[in-house]
Amino acid sequence: MTIKSIYCCQCKENVNAKLVKGNVVYQNRPDLDCLNFYQCERCKNFVGCHKGTENPLGCIPTKEIKNARKFIHALIDPILQGGFIKRKKLYKLISENLGIKQYHTGWTRTIEECREVYKIGLKIKKEAK
Ligand SMILES: [Zn+2]
Repeated sequence: MTIKSIYCCQCKENVNAKLVKGNVVYQNRPDLDCLNFYQCERCKNFVGCHKGTENPLGCIPTKEIKNARKFIHALIDPILQGGFIKRKKLYKLISENLGIKQYHTGWTRTIEECREVYKIGLKIKKEAK
């Protein structure tokens, strides 16, 4: 059994997360069985892994944060695809605005942080037009 210490947004601390397959965290999604997830044994929230690896995509989100991250991607991805700004530069802008060292959507820990990122994304989107 593989256990990894990962920050859990619900438990608000590093937890021992268990490496599980998709069928453990998603019912009726046999297509996800080949994917790896880390699950917090206390609150049962989970985070996916980079495809084909046992490296988590970020910290373990609550359902609310997971949803917020989806909104962030839905906002940011088209901006990046539009070619107005490079990912590295966009993430640097967000990091500076948040006052953190290195932003990554998967590492957002609170819903407030997600909202802040979304606001910054909106601002950049406006400038991209
Ligand atoms: Zn937890």
